[in-house]
Amino acid sequence: MMTEYKCIYCLQTKEETEFNREHVVPQMMGKYQNGFVLNDFQVCKECNDYFSKQIEGKIALDSFEAFLRMQYRDTPMSDGRKLNKNRIRLIGDEGIFKGIPFTVITDISSPYRVRFESEPMVGIINSVEKCEYDYYSLEELPYADEEAIERMKKSTQPIINTGIGRERLEPVLIDKGYLIGEYAYSEKSVLDLYEEPEFTTAIKMSIDPIMRRVCAKTVFNYLCYSKGKEFVLNSRFNEIRKYIRYGEWSDDLWFRYSKGPVSTVNMPNNTAHVVGYMWYPENGQWIFCGCLTWFGELTYIFSLGKTGNKVQKLNVLDSTKMACFNNVNRTIIEDDAVHIYGGRPNSE
Ligand SMILES: [Zn+2]
Repeated sequence: MMTEYKCIYCLQTKEETEFNREHVVPQMMGKYQNGFVLNDFQVCKECNDYFSKQIEGKIALDSFEAFLRMQYRDTPMSDGRKLNKNRIRLIGDEGIFKGIPFTVITDISSPYRVRFESEPMVGIINSVEKCEYDYYSLEELPYADEEAIERMKKSTQPIINTGIGRERLEPVLIDKGYLIGEYAYSEKSVLDLYEEPEFTTAIKMSIDPIMRRVCAKTVFNYLCYSKGKEFVLNSRFNEIRKYIRYGEWSDDLWFRYSKGPVSTVNMPNNTAHVVGYMWYPENGQWIFCGCLTWFGELTYIFSLGKTGNKVQKLNVLDSTKMACFNNVNRTIIEDDAVHIYGGRPNSE
């Protein structure tokens, strides 16, 4: 007769062979001392599989965190992995580079572990004074209008490209009316002009429910790791549980974000993860909430479920904890957390 256990996510009772190991912090974010896993029949195989394929797998190369992971993970990623662009876009933000979208590729020979490759674009001069261009993909290049032609006349470098060959570029320029009469164009590309460019980029990112669920799961795993399974099986956590496992949002939940790490944490270094649960002051009440910072950069704060009435501050210390995951030496430091501030409202 096999012993049966309840899974903390789907709440189904299953035989012990239907459970396996769940890493508190997804392995893709780093590997740490002593494993830091839930392995006492806490998360069933079915939930574990679902999380790795449907949630973590989707952000692994497609999120702001994926970009950080390429640069700061304890073990470098293999060469030539490309960042996808559904949740993050990097776009040049200065001078001639302003408006050029870049692909981020892992590169072990670079001190930053990544290199930036400009996407093939054609640039039409926009401001002669600032040396700024409007960049288009070849397919999206609009027909030339009079204003564009006037600006081109005043520039010594009216048309520029980021790696499109002449045989592809020229017919399109003629077709769209950019090469008429005496207007020729230089075949120079942006990279010919600036061999070792240094410039700022703007990062456009979106935080979608998939990313939020990865964060919520990491904190909920940690809550189970440190407070035990019975604690997290309490029905007060059913809303966050359903959101993590099934993506069902409840109005009892909320998420907020802030730049940088949590202010009350002593970070072991600049690129540590912080995972914790603590009390968050709001409207004179203390809300039990989760908090997670990836690579010291962006902090997610969210409620972990209904808290009932006002909680006395005296009780706060016994049920709060946070852990810093050091991405350089793989150590983990755990400490009490009191409360956190910051973050701006962002409802689902
Ligand atoms: Zn399960």
